[in-house]
Amino acid sequence: MLSIKNLHAGIEGKEILKGINLEIKAGEVHAIMGPNGGGKSTLSNVITGREDYEVTGGSILFEGKELLDLAPEERANDGIFMSFQYPVEIPGVSVSNFLKASINANRKAKGLEDISAREFLDKVKEKSELLEIKKDFLSRSLNEGFSGGEKKRNEIFQMAMLEPKLAILDETDSGLDIDALRIVSNGVNKLKSKDNAVLVITHYQRLLDYIIPDFVHVLMDGKIVKSGTKELALELEEKGYDWI
Ligand code: ADP
Ligand code: MG
Ligand code: MG
Repeated sequence: MLSIKNLHAGIEGKEILKGINLEIKAGEVHAIMGPNGGGKSTLSNVITGREDYEVTGGSILFEGKELLDLAPEERANDGIFMSFQYPVEIPGVSVSNFLKASINANRKAKGLEDISAREFLDKVKEKSELLEIKKDFLSRSLNEGFSGGEKKRNEIFQMAMLEPKLAILDETDSGLDIDALRIVSNGVNKLKSKDNAVLVITHYQRLLDYIIPDFVHVLMDGKIVKSGTKELALELEEKGYDWI
């Protein structure tokens, strides 16, 4: 699904990613861990094309297509979803209407008509039941006055509704409390299938008690310096990063 080869990227002339290689197949959950400042968020931003980092070498193929040639919206429309560390508040726009607009933007890019009211409602029903989201939540203004847990719930609900092929969840600096941790991990576990893949970026091994990754990678100083299975996360929890 995703094939990153020798990726180099930086900002303002400073190299941050120094040759990243990563292969993610459909059905897999990958976790990236590593010390603060190692380049984890930079990697997720470069994959989604969200910020104007300068890519100086390498490639990112998504289903065989070069992502680096695509605008962020095109990447999203192709099925890449990224969680928001700092979600925007949109007063007057409900969660439900925001989602409908996102879905329709996505459909438009594929040359499809707007989702029908019926189909949308059915989907809302299915996904909100799956994620245990209450009805009144859907009519609230987007992110306005949301607690940390509610923001996370909204994000996971958005992911469920958009049904991305690749979901990237960068949780590093968001200080997930136990509530948010459960919401995110339950959501990911319920939405996991053989056709989609998840990349979880986290500072905390604790998240990986709930989301069991197939592979764990350590990103330090712009490089993936070690890869392994979930046992690697436990080892990191115990020994820190210095031994690597
Ligand atoms: P991590 O997510 O692993 O903590 P980041 O990708 O956020 O790491 O940061 C990697 C390095 O790049 C850090 O040294 C950070 O200061 C720098 N960096 C990231 N984003 C920017 C930016 N927008 N401007 C300047 N430096 C940045
Ligand atoms: Mg950081
Ligand atoms: Mg980060």
